[in-house]
Amino acid sequence: MSDDEPRDVTPLARSRHRVAVVGACPAGLFAVQALLRRDPGLAIDIYDRLPTPYGLLRYGVAPDHTAIKRVATTLARVFEGRAVRFVGMVELGRHITRHQLREHYDAVVYAMGASRDSHLGVPGEDLDGCLSAREFVAWYEGHPDASPVVLTGVSTAVVVGIGNVAIDVARILAKPVDDLSDTDMPDAVLGELGREPVPEVWIVGRRGPRQTAFTQVELRELVSLDGVAVSVDGVQPGELDDDESLDRRTRAVLRALRDGPARSVPDPRVRLRFLFWHRVWRLDGPGEVESVRLEATRSDAEGRLEGIEEWRDIPAQLLLRAIGYRGQQLPGLPFDPVAGIIPNVEGRVTDQRGEVQPGEYVVGWIKRGAVGVIGTNKSDAAETVDHLWEDLAADGGTGRCSSDDPVVGLVESGTPVADFAAWLRIDAAERARGESRGRIRTKIATWQELAGLVAGDDDEAAKEMRRA
Ligand SMILES: Cc1cc2nc3c(=O)[nH]c(=O)nc-3n(C[C@H](O)[C@H](O)[C@H](O)COP(=O)(O)OP(=O)(O)OC[C@H]3O[C@@H](n4cnc5c(N)ncnc54)[C@H](O)[C@@H]3O)c2cc1C
Repeated sequence: MSDDEPRDVTPLARSRHRVAVVGACPAGLFAVQALLRRDPGLAIDIYDRLPTPYGLLRYGVAPDHTAIKRVATTLARVFEGRAVRFVGMVELGRHITRHQLREHYDAVVYAMGASRDSHLGVPGEDLDGCLSAREFVAWYEGHPDASPVVLTGVSTAVVVGIGNVAIDVARILAKPVDDLSDTDMPDAVLGELGREPVPEVWIVGRRGPRQTAFTQVELRELVSLDGVAVSVDGVQPGELDDDESLDRRTRAVLRALRDGPARSVPDPRVRLRFLFWHRVWRLDGPGEVESVRLEATRSDAEGRLEGIEEWRDIPAQLLLRAIGYRGQQLPGLPFDPVAGIIPNVEGRVTDQRGEVQPGEYVVGWIKRGAVGVIGTNKSDAAETVDHLWEDLAADGGTGRCSSDDPVVGLVESGTPVADFAAWLRIDAAERARGESRGRIRTKIATWQELAGLVAGDDDEAAKEMRRA
């Protein structure tokens, strides 16, 4: 789309309520689903800073977990709504403000997810080779903002954290690259993972196996990988034993942690080492991580974690902290810096003093923090939409917001906007690239190529044909 031609913009429906959703991700799209159930003709603009929808379903859920990725097919149906538009490449806080959204829509639903990460707060965290799992995941998922990761020279990687994100990144490192070659990973990522496998991967937790957030299926998949020898260390006597007082998930996790090391893996390709009850004390190296110092921990009588001044050094060249994603504060929007969320009462946005901000709502990870699976966002969005609908019904809404179309305004001011047709061009180009390699899709991972496809750039299309 050229800068001065708003030709692809279907006019915003004027006769009904208008809703803006910021974040074309699982939570945002579940909210749209719930809204369309109330009124299939509702005018809904779904904004996203990327030209591609689906948020972490596209850029977080692991590429080798294709069954979950297929949720996108169901979510895509919301774009068939009569008055639903995808407004990609438009970032709240950069191209459009909270004030503009409030002016043009009867209701605004924030679904920006959690795009920052938690830090360890230890010396050496800024050394090269210390990354957040978010950055590492963004790289292997082909996110256009990701920086390349170099694995040359990495003989030991330490993953800090005992949740499913830690499992994902450990599995991507430990899996034979041939088993990843039918995924949608960019070619450059597969090349890097295949060049020099990482023979030793640690998963370090500051608490014990009974406090992990692993799910059974993911953990069992990891400890059963071909050619991977598993060890479990740091546990207290009896801690891995079955115990009927524990919930089913925890018992299954303990079983997988007992079964993994019991497997015989002659001549292992990768050694996967779980180390519990240890926390990172510092990272050492002249400019790059060379070793990680850990302190042993224990839980005190009140369940608080404490260090016991017993040290262990692991020579390692890569440290991935998988200790949580956090929401980002956006200009002009209320934010709770402790929880890393937009403050809210059951999805109604509040200011710092707890006062409800009329017409503003929140769903997903930016509502409740970075916890829960894709499905959790469905009931979470339903709660928010119930309140939004109650509020719209109570005060009418329509007619109070400006009748101008903000998307036309954006296009006229020279902001390149990716509509749904632009996403379909990207989708087709990725499928074509994948097909030529016997895969369903190969992701396009650079802003330049994505923007070229958004613009319907003939050169980019021709290059894509040649590549395919
Ligand atoms: C590594 C990883 C693996 C996961 N694996 C699984 C799994 O296997 N199974 C499962 O069920 N769940 C999984 N999850 C959880 C699942 O991805 C989340 O529950 C879900 O994505 C919730 O996020 P969300 O919809 O709130 O936001 P997100 O998915 O994070 O999306 C936020 C969207 O907002 C957009 N955005 C951000 N800021 C702005 C802005 N200022 N302006 C405009 N747009 C903006 C972003 O581009 C993005 O599209 C995984 C999560 C991670 C991190």
